[in-house]
Amino acid sequence: MSNKDLWKQILMRLKPTMKLPSFMTWFADTGILEKNENKLTIGLPTPFAKKWVMDKYRIKILQAAQEVDESITEITYEVHSSLTHEDSPLKVPIKSLLAETDEKKVRKVRGKNEVHLGSGVTSRKLSIRYSLDNFVVGKDNKLAHAACLAAANMPGGIYNPLYVFSGVGLGKTHLLQAAGLEILKNNPDSRVVYMTAEQFTNEIIEAIGKRRTKQFKDKYRTVDCFILDDIQFLENKDMSQMEFFHTFNDLYENNKQLILSSDSPPRDLNGFKERLRGRFGMGTVVEILPPDYETRLAILHQRARDLQFMIDPEVLEFIAFHIEKNVRDLIGVLMQVISQSSLNDIKPDISLVSDILEKQHKIQEIHGKKHFAASTISPCTMQKIINTTAHYFNISANDLIGPIRKKEILTPRQICMYLIRRELDHSYEKIG
Ligand code: ADP
Ligand code: MG
Repeated sequence: MSNKDLWKQILMRLKPTMKLPSFMTWFADTGILEKNENKLTIGLPTPFAKKWVMDKYRIKILQAAQEVDESITEITYEVHSSLTHEDSPLKVPIKSLLAETDEKKVRKVRGKNEVHLGSGVTSRKLSIRYSLDNFVVGKDNKLAHAACLAAANMPGGIYNPLYVFSGVGLGKTHLLQAAGLEILKNNPDSRVVYMTAEQFTNEIIEAIGKRRTKQFKDKYRTVDCFILDDIQFLENKDMSQMEFFHTFNDLYENNKQLILSSDSPPRDLNGFKERLRGRFGMGTVVEILPPDYETRLAILHQRARDLQFMIDPEVLEFIAFHIEKNVRDLIGVLMQVISQSSLNDIKPDISLVSDILEKQHKIQEIHGKKHFAASTISPCTMQKIINTTAHYFNISANDLIGPIRKKEILTPRQICMYLIRRELDHSYEKIG
């Protein structure tokens, strides 16, 4: 791939992540100056543009670049004043990246001289944060991931409609958006709409208020892929359901892809018209279950790596062990650990995590054996806790406190540390 093609691919991924006028303003006069193994050097027309783009878009650019070429690990920026010339050979003609709808918007925006893109259709609100590549696949989300990938590779095919359901914080929004991005990646001209059912409802109400229901109808019935997140929000909202029913039928009949998410399977959706509920189950229905320990740990490792944050694996193991039900919480704890340790300039350790967890009351009853320690060990000593834990898990006390780092040992070891901390209030240095 030439540098120019590479830059074009990157720009195409960046475009949906920001408002069109910003994209036009900051990226029209840019190009790749050099690609050297893992390093890209990007040229910007002025020092101001360089500072602005680095401040505001550095992370997005890196993510977009890595989506195109995962070997890219570093991006530097340089001012290259030739880029201000209209016909600089380094530049990708930015107009070639605009869809027809964008061009209209640009004209409109220029005409009115205001930044307003609220009702854009193409690739609306997709975030490059959510890609299929950075979704960690485990046995509990494997099917949903595969179905999204398949639907994205064959839009309007046998995975239509695709219906994904799960409890909160398990990756529905991530997967839905990633599927949309994938469709755009395969075909940059396709029109992908992502929205939540709540936004859909709000738009209908607004359209009715402004007597613009016709425009509303037309807007979503001409897209290639329609993604509606959290459809349980449409519960008992007859008008929104009716509007969605028509949109759904139009798109479905034209072999356009529909991707939906919800907190429950179609049959358990209450307050839905039967004819709509019936439609939901016509294609593929997949569930995401809470991730197992290995997947949780892999997600934490990936996040820490993405954020380039060095953290002791044991600390990640401790978090993964304690936060079981929800990936959002899992990542939330990691982010707190990172921010607190950076703010206080301390190395993150288990004691910090434990404080955070305790504050959030998130330490779960350890597999229902909460009272195990209190009732059976009395008077309590460190050695007694170690012996009892080892005995309970059928391992030797020496292994429990030794250097072995196998999972069969690690979990009991963490439980043991937790019990010592809780029962004896020893410091973590001492426990260590
Ligand atoms: P939901 O829509 O089901 O409530 P989200 O998609 O918002 O959940 O996921 C919550 C957070 O967890 C997001 O930051 C998402 O990127 C992350 N996440 C969930 N599952 C995974 C996974 N398997 N791999 C990586 N990140 C994940
Ligand atoms: Mg969601």
